[in-house]
Amino acid sequence: MTQSFDVIIVGAGMVGAALANGLAQAGLTVALLDRETPAPFAPEDPPDLRVSALSAGTETYLSRLGVWSRISAMRLTPYRRLSVWDASHHPLSNLITKPLARTTFDAADLGRRHLGHIVENRVTQRALWDQAGSDERITRLTDVTVSAIDNGADAATLTLTDGRTLTAEVLVGADGARSQIRQLAGIGTTSDQYAQQAMVISVQYAGSPQDITWQAFHPSGPRAFLPLHSVEPDGAAEHSWGSLVWYDTPARLSELKALPEDALISDIQRAFPQDLPPLVKVAGRASFPLARQHAKSYFVNRVVLAGDAAHTINPLAGQGVNLGFQDAEALQQTLVEARRAGQPLATASGLAHYQSVRKPANRRMMLAMDLFYHAFSNQTPPLHLARNIGLALANSLPFAKQQVTRYAMGIDAQLPLPIRQLIDRAPRLPFMNRG
Ligand SMILES: Cc1cc2nc3c(=O)[nH]c(=O)nc-3n(C[C@H](O)[C@H](O)[C@H](O)COP(=O)(O)OP(=O)(O)OC[C@H]3O[C@@H](n4cnc5c(N)ncnc54)[C@H](O)[C@@H]3O)c2cc1C
Repeated sequence: MTQSFDVIIVGAGMVGAALANGLAQAGLTVALLDRETPAPFAPEDPPDLRVSALSAGTETYLSRLGVWSRISAMRLTPYRRLSVWDASHHPLSNLITKPLARTTFDAADLGRRHLGHIVENRVTQRALWDQAGSDERITRLTDVTVSAIDNGADAATLTLTDGRTLTAEVLVGADGARSQIRQLAGIGTTSDQYAQQAMVISVQYAGSPQDITWQAFHPSGPRAFLPLHSVEPDGAAEHSWGSLVWYDTPARLSELKALPEDALISDIQRAFPQDLPPLVKVAGRASFPLARQHAKSYFVNRVVLAGDAAHTINPLAGQGVNLGFQDAEALQQTLVEARRAGQPLATASGLAHYQSVRKPANRRMMLAMDLFYHAFSNQTPPLHLARNIGLALANSLPFAKQQVTRYAMGIDAQLPLPIRQLIDRAPRLPFMNRG
C-alpha cells in the first residue's frame, strides 16, 4: 500500500524535525523518517557529547514552533559573554597589548539577557521529535531505510527497504552530511577536508556554571570552552559540566584520545588557557573530521536539501545548525506560500527562490569561516600582526562589533554590508575557490 503526504522528510535530526513541525503547523501533512529513534532524555543522564550553541534567532524560531519550552523543561545553559583571542606568540604581537587583542562580546551591550544557549543536540532533537508526535498531521517512522526514490513528474516516490512506498509532492533530504537522498537524486557537492580535526571533550569542573563561552586561537588550532549545567541536581552548584573543543592534527588527537583520564586532564590544563576552571572529571571524548561541503544545487525537480545535507561548515563559530534552522524556516515559507496561493508545492520557481535565499547566505558563512581558519592557522608575521590588529580594531569599533554580534546571534539576517563586501570580494585563494 502506498501512503500519500504533502511532504516527506528523510532525516529527523534537528533540521528535519524542525521543518516537519513548521509545515504541519501550517496545515501540511508530513512523513518524518529516520533510520534511528531519537534517544530519550533522563535528567540524571550525563550530557550528550554533541552540544550546539543555539543563537537568539534560533531560540525565536524554536519558540514559534512551541519547542523552546520543551527544551527548557529538559535543560539548557545560557551564555551572556563570548570571548575570542589569539593565543599564539610572536615578537610582533608585543606591538599590541594583550587585553586589546582579546575581544569579548557581551549581551549587556545589546541590552539583552544572553547571547545564546548551549544545548545538547540530543535535547533539541528529542524536544522536536516529541512535538512532532503531538501533531496528527505528522507521521513519524523510525528504524527505516530508503532503498530507492523516484523523482517523478507528478510525484516523488520513496521506496523503503521493507517494501513500503510513500509518495509526496516534495521530498526533503535532511539526512545530514552524507545524505543518501542527495546521492539518490544525483546532486553533486564541492568539498574539502581541513587539515585539523576537532576533539569534543565532556568535562566536570569545580564551581558553578559559567556564563561565558570562549575560544583561544593557537597555531595548531582553536581551543574552546562551552559552559553546561550544574552537576548537582539540588542546585548546590559545586561542580558543573562543560564541553571543550580541541582542534589539532589527527595524530595529536589520537594520542590524546588514548590517554587515561588523569593524564588527559593534566594535558588539557596545560594546553588550555588559564581561563579554564580546574577540571575534576572527563566523562567522554570523541573526534570529528572537519570538512567543508556544499551541494551544487539545493533542489532537483521535487527533491530539496536542507541543513547539513546541503552544507557543512567549519564548526569554529558554532553556526552549522543555526544555518540549518534558517534553511528550514525559508523552505517552510516557500512551501506554505505555494499552498496558500493554490499552486503545486514543487514549482521550479518556488524552489529556485528557496535556493536563491539560502545558498548565498550559507556560502558567505563558509567563506567567512575559511578566512578565519586560515588567518588564525597561519604563523607568517604579517598575518599574525594583521589578525591581532583585527581583534584590537574590533574592540575599538563598538558599533561594528555590535553588528557582527547581532548577526552571529541570528537577530540580523545579514552580515554588516562592509563585511559582506569584503567576503564577496576576497581574492579567490586556493582554499576558498569553490561552492
Ligand atoms: C565538533 C562539532 C561541533 C559543532 N558545534 C556546533 C555549534 O556549536 N552550533 C551549531 O550550530 N552547529 C554546530 N555543529 C554543526 C551541527 O552539529 C550540524 O550542523 C547539525 O547537527 C546538522 O543538523 P542536521 O539535522 O542537518 O543533520 P544531522 O544532525 O546529521 O541529522 C541527520 C539525521 O538524518 C538521519 N539519517 C541520516 N542518513 C539517513 C538515511 N539514509 N535514512 C534515514 N535517516 C537518515 C540521522 O539518523 C539523523 O537523525 C558542530 C559540528 C561539529 C562536528
